[in-house]
Amino acid sequence: MKKVAILGATGSIGASALAVLAQHPDRYRPSVLTAHSNVEALEALVRQWKPELAVVADAAEQPPRHEGGTTWMYGRKALLEVAADPRNDIVLNALVGAAGLEPTLAALRAGKRVALANKESLVCGGELVLEAAASGGGELIPVDSEHSAIHQCLRCGRREEVARLILTASGGPFRGFSRSELERVKPVDALRHPTWDMGAKVTIDSATLANKALEVIEAHFLFSIGYERIGAVVHPQSIIHSMVEFIDGSVMAQMGFPTMELPIAHAFGYPERIEYRTRRFDPVAAGTLTFEPVDETLFPAFGLGVQAGRAGRGAPVVYNAANEVAVAAFLNGRISYPAIAATIGETLDRWQGADIRTVEDVIAADRWARGTAETFIDGHVHC
Ligand code: NAD
Ligand code: MG
Repeated sequence: MKKVAILGATGSIGASALAVLAQHPDRYRPSVLTAHSNVEALEALVRQWKPELAVVADAAEQPPRHEGGTTWMYGRKALLEVAADPRNDIVLNALVGAAGLEPTLAALRAGKRVALANKESLVCGGELVLEAAASGGGELIPVDSEHSAIHQCLRCGRREEVARLILTASGGPFRGFSRSELERVKPVDALRHPTWDMGAKVTIDSATLANKALEVIEAHFLFSIGYERIGAVVHPQSIIHSMVEFIDGSVMAQMGFPTMELPIAHAFGYPERIEYRTRRFDPVAAGTLTFEPVDETLFPAFGLGVQAGRAGRGAPVVYNAANEVAVAAFLNGRISYPAIAATIGETLDRWQGADIRTVEDVIAADRWARGTAETFIDGHVHC
């Protein structure tokens, strides 16, 4: 029996993870469930799953409370503590945003298997995450569907035989839109993803293609591969989840209907495959698979992110933080859709670069970028 801590249990990935656990009660048990602030949703999950620990992260610190076999803990420190709890075998990081970095580090330093959905951990602290895994003996298994696909394809050859990673992108709801159509899109349009059902932030990131840039950076760290050997291609059907090209020209692709339950089951079971009942793949029903290049003029957030990755020196942290601020402002109706990329670009333009050696360095760059992005948005809103 493996015990799984689900950080961000009330979210979209959290729900998919619990669906995986529900099919394997003899194999996995949730030992920890956490939420940011939705106490009611967490209480419902706790009643159903009876974990040993439950954490409300966005709460004032207070002493733990015991209720019906579950210990309730409160505050950010509690979140970091449970990530490293000796009772967990696997920590699923399904938090959203840069807030996920420290829990990833804590779990890896404690030697856990980290099933990583929170791509922002690697974007903001790639080197730190790899160091934490090496020093603590922890293991990082991707949950992001593209990286899970690559992880699976890489089993077909040796590392030195890999020529290129090709990430697929659905293209989001605005593929093929004109510039003037993009000016008018509203949050409700951007939240309507054509192939994936996900949390709000990653759905907007998929519409701007910032998500794909974050994933290029994620792949760079996860698979220790140079940016010049990572590409992205638009594949609107979301059937091929990504590809690996080997030096002999052979390309391996991992396929399936889009559901996050499969990459989660893979991350829990690896190196084994666990049986999973889901809609079976039917190539005829999947129909024609098409591919097109990423339109970098229409989706500038993509190129800005890849450039930030290549530049390093804190630029990925700044890119991510400016994006988080801009996405929140767009969802609140403060800025237009094109202003998301403009906010990121303006913020990156002002960044001087800095060494990122510690979590404190990440936090400082993140805070600077949030302040700078907010200032830009304020100016933008008022003029
Ligand atoms: P979500 O918004 O649905 O859920 C996020 C969860 O984290 C919630 O439980 C929330 O309470 C908690 N949380 C949010 N902010 C927090 C904070 N500051 N501190 C502590 N807890 C916090 O998000 P999601 O769509 O499940 O995405 C989670 C992560 O997985 C993201 O990094 C996303 O990019 C990645 N991802 C998601 C999908 C998907 O299908 N949803 C696919 C690939 C990758
Ligand atoms: Mg993805």
